[in-house]
Amino acid sequence: MTLAVLPEVETISPELKLHCIACDATLPPTLVYRCPDCGGILEVVRQKPEGHSWLRADFVGDGITLGEGGTPLRELRPNLLHAGFSGRLLVKDETRNPSGSFKDRLVAAALSRAIALGATGIVSASSGNAGAAAACYAANAGVPAIIVCPDATPRGKLAQIVAYGAALEQVPGHYGNAFEHARQICAETGYANLTTTYLNPYGVDALRLIGQELYEQMECVGPDWIAIPTSSGPLVKGVFQGFMDRAGKVPRLIAAQSEGCAPIARAFEDGKIDVDGWENPNTIASGISDPLQAYPEEGSLTLSLVRASKGLAYAVGDVGIREAMIDLARKAGLFCEPTGAASLAAARDLFIKGTIGSSDTVVCIVTGHGFKDFAAWT
Ligand SMILES: *Cc1c(COP(=O)(O)O)cnc(C)c1O
Ligand SMILES: [Zn+2]
Repeated sequence: MTLAVLPEVETISPELKLHCIACDATLPPTLVYRCPDCGGILEVVRQKPEGHSWLRADFVGDGITLGEGGTPLRELRPNLLHAGFSGRLLVKDETRNPSGSFKDRLVAAALSRAIALGATGIVSASSGNAGAAAACYAANAGVPAIIVCPDATPRGKLAQIVAYGAALEQVPGHYGNAFEHARQICAETGYANLTTTYLNPYGVDALRLIGQELYEQMECVGPDWIAIPTSSGPLVKGVFQGFMDRAGKVPRLIAAQSEGCAPIARAFEDGKIDVDGWENPNTIASGISDPLQAYPEEGSLTLSLVRASKGLAYAVGDVGIREAMIDLARKAGLFCEPTGAASLAAARDLFIKGTIGSSDTVVCIVTGHGFKDFAAWT
């Protein structure tokens, strides 16, 4: 099933403000990444257009867009979820974005805004995909990019970053070290920070388009469940907000994490409101291996949205992720990286546990392309 995505309506440029989710302060839209008063996470507030959804053009300038978004929603055979499942299984195929992951949606908007605000270069801390997206869009825009990745980043993602002509810096250890190093580079160079945690509010804001798109592709009937590979959670927020924008309510969201790095799923399991950082991330799902050590409040925000949707955060093992990845390739012709299959892996477990019912409708977001990471196949 592949339906038209966004309606043709005239472009509007809504007035933008930044809003602190912690202290409620309102700020003008500048290149600022946390609330100057309290350090809280900032989000974009924009006027709702009358009677239609926003367009990509409301977030991304003409010279910047590379055709990100508008990805297919495919109906798969229900037995790909489980032999006993007789509901509907759909995948939102985000591997189809220009650099092969949904990060393109976020980076396109963040880069657009950075350039509009006078930035002369960009920096991104990345487990690989955000950096590939930033390098790709910066190349097209003619803007210098510095990408900081952990040493263990999959080679396919590093190859993309280098191919697009960005300066690549690698740091030892986990994603948190890359995050900190990128912040230092921004302070020294004055470049805009396009790191794709909740840091850049303009990037996160554009992810609401995926929720809107999905709602329209579902012919305005939300599914029962949407499973989302989740690191810090901007994609969860995008889906949540997009459904609120269009439907005023949200399907149950499943934040899928890996057992080797599951700070949000652990807090959910323990009934906690505040997420704690994870100690030693270790998983084949590189795209969701952020331990959230320096900014656990981002995990808490994501968890609050998951709970508001009556959904759950769930950790799946690498074995299940690998099986789901292989089945997507061999039984649906969908070649994704391990992280991309964490959504299906989580949905499979939750069906077996009886959380997902046998006649439910389940959408799995498949977030990143298989070309990016071969190691999991060997
Ligand atoms: C970044 C990423 C995620 C996690 O998205 P968040 O919005 O950071 O939670 C999931 N899958 C892939 C392939 C990614 O690159
Ligand atoms: Zn604040």
